[in-house]
Amino acid sequence: MTTPPPESLPFPDSLCHRCAAPPRYVQSRTTTFILCPLLPQKYPPQPVRACALFKPKPPETPPVSR
Ligand code: SF4
Repeated sequence: MTTPPPESLPFPDSLCHRCAAPPRYVQSRTTTFILCPLLPQKYPPQPVRACALFKPKPPETPPVSR
């Protein structure tokens, strides 16, 4: 499964899109919900601007140069 780019997701400026948790995107017919695997309430009020559990996603692995 590929993660859609944040621009096509709700609240593109939400911290969740850059979090290593990682959040899951749950699609309904009309919208996309951001499900956090770490928070007990699962669906934090968006956009998340600060989160005690936030850890930045590791950068993409660069291609190996030869
Ligand atoms: S830990 Fe915080 S920033 Fe990360 S996905 Fe959950 S709510 Fe979003």
